[in-house]
Amino acid sequence: MAHDRFPIPGGPVLRARGWRQEALLRLLENVLSVGEDPDNLVIYAALGKAARNRAAHDQIVRTLMTMDEDQTLIIQSGKPIGLLKTHVQAPLVIMANCNIVGQWAKPEIFYDLQARGLICWGGLTAGAWQYIGSQGVIQGTYEIFMRIAEKRFGGDLRGRFILTAGLGGMGGSQPLAGRMAGAAILCVDVDPARAAKRQAIGYLDRIAPDLDSALADIDQATATGAALSVGLVGNAADVYPEIARRGIVPDIVTDQTAAHDLIYGYVPQGFTLEAVRALRQSDPARLMAASRASIVVQVRAMLAFQARGAEVFDNGNLIRTQARDGGVANAFDIPIFTEAYLRPLFCRAIGPFRWMALSGDPDDIRKIDDLVLQRFADNRIVTNWIRLARAHVPFEGLPARIAWLGHGARTELALAVNDLVRRGNLAGPIAFSRDHLDAAAMAHPNIMTERMRDGSDAIADWPLLDAMALCASMADLVVVHSGGGGYAGFMTSAGVTLVADGSAAADLRLSLSLTNDTSLGVMRYADAGYPDAIDEAQTKGLAWFDLSAG
Ligand code: NAD
Repeated sequence: MAHDRFPIPGGPVLRARGWRQEALLRLLENVLSVGEDPDNLVIYAALGKAARNRAAHDQIVRTLMTMDEDQTLIIQSGKPIGLLKTHVQAPLVIMANCNIVGQWAKPEIFYDLQARGLICWGGLTAGAWQYIGSQGVIQGTYEIFMRIAEKRFGGDLRGRFILTAGLGGMGGSQPLAGRMAGAAILCVDVDPARAAKRQAIGYLDRIAPDLDSALADIDQATATGAALSVGLVGNAADVYPEIARRGIVPDIVTDQTAAHDLIYGYVPQGFTLEAVRALRQSDPARLMAASRASIVVQVRAMLAFQARGAEVFDNGNLIRTQARDGGVANAFDIPIFTEAYLRPLFCRAIGPFRWMALSGDPDDIRKIDDLVLQRFADNRIVTNWIRLARAHVPFEGLPARIAWLGHGARTELALAVNDLVRRGNLAGPIAFSRDHLDAAAMAHPNIMTERMRDGSDAIADWPLLDAMALCASMADLVVVHSGGGGYAGFMTSAGVTLVADGSAAADLRLSLSLTNDTSLGVMRYADAGYPDAIDEAQTKGLAWFDLSAG
């Protein structure tokens, strides 16, 4: 469902001087076409923007159309600063987004800098033009549900009830992921437009008129083992405690409201959306206090569900951190999803890799699906996912696919795809990217790197090293992002985009960048002492230095 004024790009005609520049231009257009509020350049996560402002956006577009391949565009927090003369194998775009010096990296300072037009937050994939709609996190959410199924429910979520909230840019993947996992999932969102959007794009089966009928639908689905997603328009801080009060205990509970941002993200109990919008300007302090108070109520309900046996986890939105700051001393009894379910995958640099068909032709993705199924036939996680995604995940914007692939596999796939482009077997070039939530790419002590084995949670050297290694590997676009809004001071991450245009130069860029990105990911976890990562480094022959003995 694209916006009329932000059409999905595609087709064979180049507007730029080469496919590399054209690819990045199309990816910028694509994030706007699938973004939550493209008029304001906001793509997802409340404030994550594709460019600083309209003038910055227009200059980026003009530059991508006219720049040569031996130039590098410098972007500072969504604003194009200038072109440098580099060389044809250098990155075309390098970006630094929202990196604020440590003692200053606080939400209030971010909001002030933003109000003065000096900075913007690029989210993880918004400012780097890598967002592909809700599909971007869907496999991650699905894999979390399946890990829980294995751990708690005999490998199967049929007949199980998942309660969650948030149907925004990322949270909108939850109903589809829950249904794909076979569960009955109830998703609460305070904004009827968000629920309607997810239903319109096929991610949400139905929207219930009230809690009673939502719970009746869930009851019926769990009784028959039917997979079902139900949306409910309401405030999670009202709905969660009410479900608990009725003595109902869901099997799995989480939340993906934009709780990280107390002003632009979370909507407190008792406030209309209009009132919240007005308070952002007139009394942000009151809004922050009200949001935190509601989060406290919601997290207390989540803890109550946990005490009664539900599997409860934080899905990466700082809801525990906000609740702890609001006085919930045991908020961190709720585990973070990365540590609880996914770290063994990150130890082998297996993470959310994705590719986009720049031609706009869905057949390109279908052909790559076939290639993945054939090349990675022994990889159960990936083959299962591709079959499911093919059947259930509608395309939004440019046709795209995500699959959790690791060291070696990403490079192998990208080179094979570049070969398909070279032979003319696809309608156009393919862009490769990944989420910033990736092994080498992210330091976030309350999400990605919480409770690291060696205590290195807050060290941000890794994403910086990753970005520098990607520049040295000649990736097409390289970015370093830090948190903005409520995430200010919480994280630093690195992102990368690569263009498979069928050329020999692309072979080199893909091979070096993808191999080095995942090598560093394995080394980061090996350095932290994870046996899986040490095993991966040894079996894959990485040149990792093990200094643990001395
Ligand atoms: P978004 O701003 O697009 O959507 C947030 C949604 O929450 C909106 O639809 C809003 O109406 C709803 N909401 C706000 N307060 C509510 C309340 N009290 N009750 C019910 N609904 C409420 O944000 P998004 O892109 O969907 O991201 C959601 C969160 O997930 C963010 O904190 C984001 O940073 C985080 N995130 C996690 C991952 C991950 O890998 N787990 C990835 C990306 C984003």
